Amino acid sequence: MNSFNPIWEAIDRALPQIRKPSRYLGNEKNSVKKDWAHIDLKIALCYPDAYEIGMSNIGIQILYHLLNRHPHMLAERVFAPWLDFEQFLRQEKLPLVSLESKVPLRQFDVLGISLPYELTYTNILTLLDLAGLSFYAKDRGEKDPLVIGGGNNAFNPEPVADFFDALLIGDGEEACLEMMEVIRHHRHRETKQKLLGRLASIRGVYIPSFFKFYYKNGGTISHVEPLLEGYKGVQKRSVSDLDTSYYPKKPIIPHTKIIHDRVGVEVQRGCVRGCRFCQAGYIYRPERQRSPDTVKEIVRHQIRNTGQDAVSLVSLSIGDYDCISQLMKDLMDEHLSRHVGISIPSTRVEQLTPAMMEEIKRVRKTGFTIAPEAATERMRRVINKGNSEGDLLTTVNEVFKNGWRLLKFYFLVGLPTETDEDVSAIAALGLKSLRTGEVHSRNIEINLGISLFVPKPFTPFQWEPQISIEEMYRRLNLIKRSLKARKLRLKPHIPEMSYLEGVFSRGDRRLAPAIISAWKKGCRFDEWEECAAFEKWKEAFIECGIDTSFYVERPREKDEILPWDHLFVEMKKEWLWKEREAAFKESFTHDCSVESCTTCGVCDYKDVRNRAYEHPLYDEEGRLFKKKTTTEIRHQDPSCPSPAIAVDFPQASPASSLDPPGQSFLCQFSKKGPARLFGFLEFVEHVRRAVARAEIPVRFSEGFHPHPRIKFGDALKVGQEIEEALFIIEIEGPMEPTILIEHLNGQFPEGIRLHSVRPIDSFLSLQKLMSRSMAAHDISI
Ligand code: SF4
Repeated sequence: MNSFNPIWEAIDRALPQIRKPSRYLGNEKNSVKKDWAHIDLKIALCYPDAYEIGMSNIGIQILYHLLNRHPHMLAERVFAPWLDFEQFLRQEKLPLVSLESKVPLRQFDVLGISLPYELTYTNILTLLDLAGLSFYAKDRGEKDPLVIGGGNNAFNPEPVADFFDALLIGDGEEACLEMMEVIRHHRHRETKQKLLGRLASIRGVYIPSFFKFYYKNGGTISHVEPLLEGYKGVQKRSVSDLDTSYYPKKPIIPHTKIIHDRVGVEVQRGCVRGCRFCQAGYIYRPERQRSPDTVKEIVRHQIRNTGQDAVSLVSLSIGDYDCISQLMKDLMDEHLSRHVGISIPSTRVEQLTPAMMEEIKRVRKTGFTIAPEAATERMRRVINKGNSEGDLLTTVNEVFKNGWRLLKFYFLVGLPTETDEDVSAIAALGLKSLRTGEVHSRNIEINLGISLFVPKPFTPFQWEPQISIEEMYRRLNLIKRSLKARKLRLKPHIPEMSYLEGVFSRGDRRLAPAIISAWKKGCRFDEWEECAAFEKWKEAFIECGIDTSFYVERPREKDEILPWDHLFVEMKKEWLWKEREAAFKESFTHDCSVESCTTCGVCDYKDVRNRAYEHPLYDEEGRLFKKKTTTEIRHQDPSCPSPAIAVDFPQASPASSLDPPGQSFLCQFSKKGPARLFGFLEFVEHVRRAVARAEIPVRFSEGFHPHPRIKFGDALKVGQEIEEALFIIEIEGPMEPTILIEHLNGQFPEGIRLHSVRPIDSFLSLQKLMSRSMAAHDISI
């Protein structure tokens, strides 16, 4: 691999000494490697965090496969190098290279950098620096790659706006291709300035250099001057119909365990519940559902193409997906025999139903996180979280009654109007929940995850002050002092990091020099607890004359010009202010997907509107059971099978003590080349997934967490090439060893190869087997 690439050869030699070398190997199964000679536009998709975080990002997988479908474009991936790898590259004066072709970033036409959250800003600088590029867009030349950003944080990108040539505000599926087509046709034929002017005409595209900010003496913005005629603001981009929007069916299979190590299918985008602290709930409006049939088809393909044994149904509010119970049942019915489990993201308290729990526990009990957010009814009214303590305790009772032992709660501390009574109530509610669960088992635990509230742009709390670090500690101590049970574990976020997030969340362009200063002092991976370096950040802010309390602890006036006021213009600022007033009056704003429009301004009611799928349910008089006034409802007939079924899995039955014994095989394999750098657990997972993709009818253990019956010998040392090692696999019934070899070799990643397979008479441990004399014959190819 890459034998003519001296940069990669130098990196490859050093990787055994680097932490988690599999992060940098690339060329995973289902990744795409194109011939550079026949491509017009090369795009590096850069994620400013570690491989295992970036590979969990669904947006990256969507854009990667979408761009690579284009015959004249290629997309390759780059993740932020961990500290030791960055140090190695600097020592050896090597550039950062892409995972697919191992090409330095500077040779791409476009660097597309994700903006997932505020505390990745220093890593953006690492990516630019190791690409050999100037930080500021104005300092980069005509021949340098265009640097384009997008993602959650692009809704207020101002602290890093000067580093980017362009940013995409909103959904990327359509706009990204439109942008790349414009760049493909006009790059190198006209000046960068003219090209940026063309990009500005695409809905959702923000060119920071076309806006100039002016400030008052007190530091607030006096006005924002548009520098391109007719370009006064940017409307966010929104995919109107999620069901017809592209979704990959062959996601890349990571080399190492990633944060969300499962098939992830986005079933719904947007949420219109109106929780007043939740930025995602406002910026991704309206609610758009993917049809259950499409979801089932994607799951079917993704499981077959990855060998994953878990599916995650992704949504901001999974319980609002109208067909959730039926969808979970259908998925479990279809994939149960292959031991594929389902997990769901954190849910609203009242939406985790017994029917959902029943489906989840059919394969394995994946954990639950439920999000009360606040512990008193008063506080929940302020944030428009319309659920009660009774709802929570009912759900807790059901979870523990159904046999779960661990439950995670998610609370926010520091919300507007919060009192000490609201804070202490978190511990009290945790205790009540524990006592409720202990009726079913003494052996249970509850984790209380505590985030510290950071006011976000485009929410009703965008004008509110955030509490100071000292106050955050005081309130956390209030909870700690009230915690009276050992089985209630407090998991708070670090106050300093929440404060830093607060600086950038509502920050402006004057913060860019401080980000550079902090980066020069060594700040990296600021979201990671082990890398937290708040003292360096403090020094950087002082050096750059930044008063952080101006950004964090100051209330804003209603008519103050906010740094993001020229972006995302559909949502009315006046409407957000009314929501803020409603919060202080503790009044409820209803869900517009169920009742009337509350006139936030996002929908045009033609293309852009709430869209849901429902199995038709009728009341006694024949009317639709659930009436939604503003939502376009498409019906799924539950009696119709999915028309899109294209993949038939062989249906293996779970092993039981009544089944006839399976056939065991001793498999001899080698692990060389890039595969020598897999850790033992990474290797085990590669084998398990290859077995699943090859549709080998492996037997599973019994019990609550069935595992495929594959046994491995001693752990294999990272970096060492292995000529001959062994594992044992037990499968249902007889199988030709040659078939087993052929099928598995077709699925292993580069460097793992099965050489011989020998039938053995029982599923023993390797040690026992080796101690026996075995006269059987090898089957080799
Ligand atoms: S415009 Fe109306 S229907 Fe659309 S998201 Fe806003 S409140 Fe809901």
